Amino acid sequence: MAHVIAIANQKGGVGKTTTAVNLAASFAAMERRTLLVDCDPQANATSGVGLDPRQTHPNLYTVLGAPQTTPGAIRPTALDFLHVLPATPDLAGAEIELIEIEHREGVIAQAVGTVADNYEFVLLDCPPSLGLLTLNALCAAQWLLIPLQTEYYALEGMARLLGTVDRVRGRFNPHLKILGIVLTMFDKRNKLSFHVEHEVRHHFRDRTLTTVIPRNVRLSEAPSHGQPALLYDIRSLGTQAYLQLAQEILNLPQLR
Ligand code: ATP
Ligand code: MG
Repeated sequence: MAHVIAIANQKGGVGKTTTAVNLAASFAAMERRTLLVDCDPQANATSGVGLDPRQTHPNLYTVLGAPQTTPGAIRPTALDFLHVLPATPDLAGAEIELIEIEHREGVIAQAVGTVADNYEFVLLDCPPSLGLLTLNALCAAQWLLIPLQTEYYALEGMARLLGTVDRVRGRFNPHLKILGIVLTMFDKRNKLSFHVEHEVRHHFRDRTLTTVIPRNVRLSEAPSHGQPALLYDIRSLGTQAYLQLAQEILNLPQLR
């Protein structure tokens, strides 16, 4: 059975997609069969692995209407061990359309369930909200990975996110656990980064992963080439940090 990991934080621009794409690519480079599921209508994870979101049919949106069609919507990527279930901007409509259906919170779980046995890791990239798509991702996952941008308001919104996790656990998905918090965009030239890291580790000592993702221009350039950073520049500090994060996660006792 796959380890299903939702990458979520309702705060925008904190590094969710960068983490989803590059962690997925890192697992794949380590020959772990990995599926990246793009749960965000912005479709940045889809384009980040080289697919054009306007030309991906079928996709997560079409699959939500018919979960049994999921296997046919999965695409290969430039990495042998990495597949993607792409998103399109249409997915924005799902936030409204899903309201109509029964078990509206469980549709992505159903879709993922049809293919999970084929993978060791399934990573779900969430949109920047706690709407129905994120709720679906949290219901499909056993694990939540929370990227926190190393900046002044990093912890803002965490109480709400953790409250949501508790509610999801209580009502829909008792298996959901927090895998960890990963600090992103750490700038070692900026004292504030060290201060925020200290704060986060103080508040969430057991939850904060050791690996810290640096602010690195290669990580921000790679998506415009439709490539995970390890294909764009294997030697960059950003690539190396995500490989290290993948290794740290593989070594976590709870994933063994
Ligand atoms: P959204 O909430 O809109 O989905 P997000 O949380 O997925 O955003 P990203 O898209 O991963 O965040 O990152 C936001 C921006 O910051 C992007 O332009 C991305 O390229 C850049 N970025 C992310 N991580 C890093 C990093 N470690 N170093 C430099 N730039 C980064
Ligand atoms: Mg994103």
